[in-house]
Amino acid sequence: MKIGILALQGAVEPHAEKLRALGADVVEVRVSRDLKDIQGIILPGGESTAMIKILHKNQLWDDLKAFTATHPSWGVCAGAILLARKVTSPEQESLNAIDVEIERNAFGRQNESFIGDLVSTPSWPKEPVSGVFIRAPRIRAAGPGVQVLLKWGDEPVMVRSGKTMLSTFHPELTDGTQVHDYFLSFCQP
Ligand code: GLN
Repeated sequence: MKIGILALQGAVEPHAEKLRALGADVVEVRVSRDLKDIQGIILPGGESTAMIKILHKNQLWDDLKAFTATHPSWGVCAGAILLARKVTSPEQESLNAIDVEIERNAFGRQNESFIGDLVSTPSWPKEPVSGVFIRAPRIRAAGPGVQVLLKWGDEPVMVRSGKTMLSTFHPELTDGTQVHDYFLSFCQP
């Protein structure tokens, strides 16, 4: 199985290591033709505003939007911001792949980065995981079709709707491959 990782900016290699450990082939996605043979894509953490600029510069925005509308995609932190329907703080354009409203940098300065124990919901089929949050956004609203997989306290931090998944934390930075394995399970053709 070939899985793409958007490789314009941000944390690409830690995802590639997890995917390879699970037996997937990794394609670094920088231009439209890189989307051709992949079964799913990870949009990694980094800086969402920088990614938006480079997506337009590389003329990748429209094709990535079309790809994420029809294929499995997982957005991590900045990647989650890119996939959301609506972005606040400040508002910015997004790919609108999932009916979620997300607020950027929403943990405030004092708590900009922390590690939290996550709470599994009955929808999460794997071992529990802990969450590394780095200047993370918060999911402020989600449509009726959006399923919560993992929570931090009472709030959703990993959600899925059909072929689209968001996590506001970084599973590529902790031990274990549960979350990558879960994503691969719905990338199977
Ligand atoms: N603060 C970043 C943004 O708004 C996201 C941070 C991250 O991806 N770790 O794009």
